[in-house]
Amino acid sequence: MTGKPSLTLHNTLTRRKEVFSPIDADNVRMYVCGPTVYDFAHIGNARPVIVFDVLFRLLRHLYGAEHVTYVRNITDVDDKINARALRDFGGDIAAGRMSLNAAIRNVTEKTASQYHDDVKALGCLEPTHEPRATEHIDGMVAMIQTLIDKKNAYLAQGAEGAEILFDVVSMKGYGALSNRNLDEQQAGARIDVKDHKKNPGDFVLWKESSVEQPGWQGRFSVGGKAVSIHGRPGWHIECSVMSKAHLGEVFDIHGGGLDLIFPHHENEIAQSCCAHGTERMANVWMHNGYLQVEGRKMSKSEGNFVTIHDLLHTKKLGGRNWPGEVLRLAMLMTHYREPIDFSIKRLEEAESILAKWKHGDPQEGNISAEVLRSLLDDLNTPGAIRALHTLKDGKDFAASAQLLGVLPTKVETEMSEAEIASVCEQRLAFIRDRNWAEADRIRDELLARGIELRDGKDSETGERITTWEAKR
Ligand SMILES: [Zn+2]
Repeated sequence: MTGKPSLTLHNTLTRRKEVFSPIDADNVRMYVCGPTVYDFAHIGNARPVIVFDVLFRLLRHLYGAEHVTYVRNITDVDDKINARALRDFGGDIAAGRMSLNAAIRNVTEKTASQYHDDVKALGCLEPTHEPRATEHIDGMVAMIQTLIDKKNAYLAQGAEGAEILFDVVSMKGYGALSNRNLDEQQAGARIDVKDHKKNPGDFVLWKESSVEQPGWQGRFSVGGKAVSIHGRPGWHIECSVMSKAHLGEVFDIHGGGLDLIFPHHENEIAQSCCAHGTERMANVWMHNGYLQVEGRKMSKSEGNFVTIHDLLHTKKLGGRNWPGEVLRLAMLMTHYREPIDFSIKRLEEAESILAKWKHGDPQEGNISAEVLRSLLDDLNTPGAIRALHTLKDGKDFAASAQLLGVLPTKVETEMSEAEIASVCEQRLAFIRDRNWAEADRIRDELLARGIELRDGKDSETGERITTWEAKR
């Protein structure tokens, strides 16, 4: 083989792996759909954040940190947010102590800040830009007007007031990403004669708000007539507008979870391509697979619904909390396109792997060619982790592990790591001799010095191992 190995990525649009070639190598551009901020993010939401953080790190390594622009939005206008604000502050609003907008801001600010704490604990770099939907309302109104002018959108009267809808039939090739053709979609759906939509697949761009809903004055011109609708945007339009604002009309990579392919991403493409007259919105579309918890679909009714915050700070899963790097490694042990089963066993396995990782200064090491080769092959993180384990040098290990964003955290303690390791060995010897009193004495002594021991089993050999954590 000659030359540098190139990056290949699986493209949902073409359903195959393709060699990645940026539109502009001086500014590689990626957009990933971010959270709707009304409640703690669940562990399924953590998957795209971690997966695309690895891609962000890899692109920065390949093209230079200043030559990659990563945008991840915050959806801060949504009916779920509105419902949460009314639930939490309904009394204050009714009594005139708080405005609806202030209540909504309270919910979105608090949730966005929780989200930032969560993703930081998961070792994710901050994206280059993190736009909020409410900062881009004018852009949305302008793009909707363009779609009206180009006859891709129309005004209709829905049950809750005026709506501007996207006309899916007006777009040639609608459904290409999700591989659904429109005839198939229409055949199953019966159109109610009273339905205000021209086609069942038509979706909302702008919707009239009641007094109990947040709204902005949307001024449009429809068929030469001025139409003003106090309303709010549909969900899809915000991503079309925010990606255009920060990345331009056509950019390199658009990512998100598998569940977003239809309708969200399909509709983003429809809006952007029709508004800009372009063939594509993004060249590469990447989607991460589903996540289950303990072998079942996560749901509140199943009782297995866990948030990132629960895992980091409570004993909800496995009767203990889990460090961010353990959650991150547990996620990266499976290839991003595969389904993942998030379980206590998997977390324990990740923790025992991390306990054996070498320490070193990543700045002084070199990234292993084998680790890099795995990542270049459509982000093969399990392959990269296997390659890491063949590395002998701590510095190279650290430099390579940094590409995955997982570094065993070196904590300041009054004892050196070697000292702690040797005391742990002594204790294991006492345990083998069934001298529990001595083993416990060592455990308590270390605890008194701020070092907490945890006993476990090596997932490969089944041998007893001890890990430790520094407590403040
Ligand atoms: Zn989106």
